[in-house]
Amino acid sequence: MELSERQEKILEIVKENGPITGEKIAGCLELTRATLRPDLAILTMSGFLDARPRVGYFYTGKTGTELLTERLKKYKVSEYQSVPIVVKEDVSVYDAISSMFLEDVGTLFVVDEHACLTGVLSRKDLLRASIGQKDLNAIPVHIIMTRMPNIAICYKSDLLIDAAKKLIDRQIDGLPIVKDTEHGCEVIGRVTKTTITKVFVELITDHNI
Ligand code: ADP
Repeated sequence: MELSERQEKILEIVKENGPITGEKIAGCLELTRATLRPDLAILTMSGFLDARPRVGYFYTGKTGTELLTERLKKYKVSEYQSVPIVVKEDVSVYDAISSMFLEDVGTLFVVDEHACLTGVLSRKDLLRASIGQKDLNAIPVHIIMTRMPNIAICYKSDLLIDAAKKLIDRQIDGLPIVKDTEHGCEVIGRVTKTTITKVFVELITDHNI
């Protein structure tokens, strides 16, 4: 996060004199307390400063990188999930390829009649199945999919960083987000490499870090 010149000055004052009241910081800068209020709010929300009632502001000693790391470690899968695209086990490879194009995704999740996960289809799974095949309508996807229990999954409450680690460890493009039900793992969302890329860009452009 880029701090303004005034915010940098406030940090210096608090570092040297903290705990210090907002009134006194304003006095050092020859500004009013009201003028400083937004800057103090930003510095407190972003974690550079802490405020105690009747004591004042003090410096937390955390660097921008530490604060960024702290923030990243709190992101939950639920905040960034996208809609899962699912197909039934008996649809053909041809129809699965059509779904992939129509829905503009790289991974399809295969589900049973209870919307519970039974398999995953990647682009290469479908390409592999297509090579040398004359009739793609004749092959159901359950023959070629990667199937449970070998599927890496995640839950809404998981940390995004753990989902990202799974994508890297398993060398895959996406994870289904599931909910445990009496019938199995119901598919309720997905996290993909695109999700993680979006978060990365958001972090850089977001001024609230
Ligand atoms: P691609 O095969 O197009 O490179 P992936 O890297 O996502 O795409 O998939 C590689 C293999 O891993 C495929 O065979 C796919 O079925 C399987 N796969 C994809 N997602 C998962 C997952 N969440 N858990 C287990 N296997 C998966």
